[in-house]
Amino acid sequence: MMKYDYLIVGAGLYGAVFASEAVKAGRRCLVIDRRDHIAGNIYTEEIRGINVHKYGAHIFHTSNKKVWDYVNGLAVFNNYVNSPVAVYKDELYNLPFNMNTFYSLWGVRTPAQAREKLDEQITSAASLIKGDENGNPANLEEQALSLVGRDIYEKLIKGYTEKQWGRDCKDLPAFIIKRLPLRFSYNNNYFNDTYQGIPVGGYTKIVEKLLEGTELRLGCSYDEFRAENEAKGPDADVFDRVVYTGMIDEYFGFRLGRLQYRTLKFDTRLIEGVSNYQGNAVVNYTEREIPYTRVIEHKHFEHINDPESIPDTVITNEYPKEYEAGDEPYYPVNDERNSALYAEYEALADKEEGVIFGGRLGQYKYYDMDKVIEAALDAANAELGN
Ligand code: UDP
Repeated sequence: MMKYDYLIVGAGLYGAVFASEAVKAGRRCLVIDRRDHIAGNIYTEEIRGINVHKYGAHIFHTSNKKVWDYVNGLAVFNNYVNSPVAVYKDELYNLPFNMNTFYSLWGVRTPAQAREKLDEQITSAASLIKGDENGNPANLEEQALSLVGRDIYEKLIKGYTEKQWGRDCKDLPAFIIKRLPLRFSYNNNYFNDTYQGIPVGGYTKIVEKLLEGTELRLGCSYDEFRAENEAKGPDADVFDRVVYTGMIDEYFGFRLGRLQYRTLKFDTRLIEGVSNYQGNAVVNYTEREIPYTRVIEHKHFEHINDPESIPDTVITNEYPKEYEAGDEPYYPVNDERNSALYAEYEALADKEEGVIFGGRLGQYKYYDMDKVIEAALDAANAELGN
């Protein structure tokens, strides 16, 4: 029989940050994960000297100085700036929507011309916007049309978004599109945050560091673990508290019904003898007819200035799909139905003694990495009284 302060379910970013704080405060933790590796969806694996983001591109960005200092204490971050390129049919556009995009779309060169053109676009789309009871855009389509008008919506948003979420833009919440900034300069930096970069050596090393001093058991689900532990009878291990970062609906045995998730299928290929496949880390394919949303060329994350110094390359095509049992869940679907169901699960979670629910799956929230770290540090502080 072992006695632990915390059983942490999930060796992803939330669980690892919490474990690290708890260990620093002298607590004993056991971290379990059903996968056979740590780091959850930020797991990276080296192939031919390239750190491959096995579960899709992860670009660290934050405006929170405390979080930035925290991650810089765990790894050296390079000066990578995410500047995706979007391909629509035979046209190519810079993202986020900026002067380069406006020039390619409409031939406008100054911010004043671009604003004028956008106003025109928005005005001519006004009749398509019905609005909700408070006069706000009622869904993602209305939000997009009211922000950028028809050309950008139809070429760069509609197809990509409908592929990504498997739903009509009219059935998606407006807030998803708030992640796409609109910029009146020739700046292709996708993010508005103050700090941005990729950890040199990959994300897995960060999580390894965070889990130092913690006991770890991989390839073991929470259900399996509990069954096994209970079978030990009086010799069962004892845990004061549980930190649960898996799917909240699974924790409660799906008793109120299943929350929906989107997942991604990755087709990752090593291409030998090609030192530079697409000239950029991220290329988005915004047409509905192309089944993948983006192609990632991993070497550009770390080999910013010398991608061709490695003779081979690794690329990943990303295919979004609806989550089914056995898949890895990636994105919560925060539409009305799922948000209402989550609220019911959250009420159950609030009553669950001795369990902290955290992370994208535990809180059914479209968290970025910095927000996950912030939430885990806050939870650890509240728990450990730092
Ligand atoms: N999006 C889009 N066109 C693009 C890229 C993104 O319309 O070329 C929209 C889409 O609705 C998507 C959202 O922006 O769901 C957020 O995309 P992002 O790539 O920033 O999110 P990630 O999938 O990386 O979390």
